[in-house]
Amino acid sequence: MAPDHMIRRTKQLWRAFLGIFGALFIIPALLACSPQVANTSVVSATSVQPTAVQPANAPALAPDASGTQAPAGQDSAAPAMPNCSNLILTPSETEGPYYKAGSPERTSLLDGTVKGTRFVLTGYVLTPDCKPVPGAWLDFWQADAQGSYDNSGYTLRGHQMTDANGRYTLTTIVPGLYPGRTEHIHVKVQAPNGPVLTTQLYFPGVPSNSRDGIFQSQMLMSVKQTSDGMAGDYNFVVK
Ligand code: FE
Repeated sequence: MAPDHMIRRTKQLWRAFLGIFGALFIIPALLACSPQVANTSVVSATSVQPTAVQPANAPALAPDASGTQAPAGQDSAAPAMPNCSNLILTPSETEGPYYKAGSPERTSLLDGTVKGTRFVLTGYVLTPDCKPVPGAWLDFWQADAQGSYDNSGYTLRGHQMTDANGRYTLTTIVPGLYPGRTEHIHVKVQAPNGPVLTTQLYFPGVPSNSRDGIFQSQMLMSVKQTSDGMAGDYNFVVK
């Protein structure tokens, strides 16, 4: 029989061996099989939100009021996209006697001789399903601040095309009144390969609106005062 000290020594060696074996194999194996909880939070399946994927070279996007994404920073003065619900085709109105074809292409009708309250009109040309129309033609003409049209030249007349985002900007003046009419701006609008829409735009809060037999409330612009005049917004909806 082995002496007691030999038996104790053997037990000590076994314990040391088992300790080393456990440290090397058993503990790592248990850790590998356990749930990973560090730096995670519980996310239910229904709370996972899809992540928008942007091309690396895409412009930054900012949501507008309608939830539509529009390039951010491209034009800080750009009108907000409209609420696309319940869009109707822009009504037509009479051309009147003062239209002249062949107006110059320009976004500002202020040629240095025009006097009056500065008015900057912006907006979109849209399809009935609310898609902006790039390259749409807009031809504006209007009376001066005294209510007179230039029928010999092209003062306060000009045409332009919507930009790649379907937007337009017109810099002009607030037109004056002439007998029988309220303040208005004439315009023709045509989407590429579409029919020409002839109509007129009106200013809100003008007392003579209610006395004008041509006036239609659907053609009222959204207008506000600015530091140097007035600003308006109107979105055309065309075929
Ligand atoms: Fe007119």
